[in-house]
Amino acid sequence: MDGYLSMSKSKKAQKKDEIQLEGVFLQPHRGGLQDVSARLPFLAGMNNKKVSLIGLGCLGAPCALELARSGIGQLHLVDDDTVDLGTTVRWPFGSSEIGNYKVDVLERFIQENYPYTNVTKSFCNLGIAPLDPIGDSNHLEEVERVFQESDLVFDASANLNVNHLLSDLAQERQLPYLAITVTYGAWGGHIVRVRPGKTVGCWQCYRRFLDGDQTIPYAHGDPRGLVQPGGCGTPTYTGAGFDALEIAMGGVRMAASTLTENEQNGYPTTPWDVAVINLRNATGEMIPPHWQTFPLQKHPGCACVKKL
Ligand SMILES: [Zn+2]
Repeated sequence: MDGYLSMSKSKKAQKKDEIQLEGVFLQPHRGGLQDVSARLPFLAGMNNKKVSLIGLGCLGAPCALELARSGIGQLHLVDDDTVDLGTTVRWPFGSSEIGNYKVDVLERFIQENYPYTNVTKSFCNLGIAPLDPIGDSNHLEEVERVFQESDLVFDASANLNVNHLLSDLAQERQLPYLAITVTYGAWGGHIVRVRPGKTVGCWQCYRRFLDGDQTIPYAHGDPRGLVQPGGCGTPTYTGAGFDALEIAMGGVRMAASTLTENEQNGYPTTPWDVAVINLRNATGEMIPPHWQTFPLQKHPGCACVKKL
């Protein structure tokens, strides 16, 4: 595709209820791939990359949109949830999309507005027993198929069991793995990345540093940050979209860095693979976004050390 044309028309009414076209003016816009990429010279190569994005909640959905704006060539969206009115307070689209599958909403919007990004999708939720709306396919097999050609597994599922599973699958296939999570109240969040051959530790090392000796600290969270609104089958966390976006966009920055690190004009690389972000202090007062970063080393108690 070389470009786009938008059309402006002037009209003149001859009589009531009659419109006659007097002239047509075409306003051309430069819209070729090089044109739309010109403002992002540091994202060279994004158009040749594929990201598998798992989870399209308040973290994953804005990441999908921002990856499309950043010129990602292929985006595979994995989710099985529908848009709920209650969650539109922190989701990119509102009441007009209630009841629609999140993968369908995002696919449609991206394909209509960002034609250089090809979107594919899987109706999967690896965190619960299979409830496949399109049949009885094996979800794990579907995700494994999705992984085959991916350059990055971007895990926004915010589910510890899914994190564990996907990080293992990515490690087996020697694929970069990136996960983002947000705390209760969206007071803060975490980003962790594992790059085969570059990151020293693994996802389980990260969890041991976090849960065990707390060498990596937890971001602050609201102790009252879990609610169960009427009509909601399971408890959900409180938190504003504009706070969650800080963590989501941090994840996209890390994704851009990872995807372009072997390009001549790539996004800056980082020596760290873990970021802990706080937007509030421990008592809930607002603070300027505060990042702490850590290299991901091997944890002496992790099984990956014992394998050596
Ligand atoms: Zn490990």
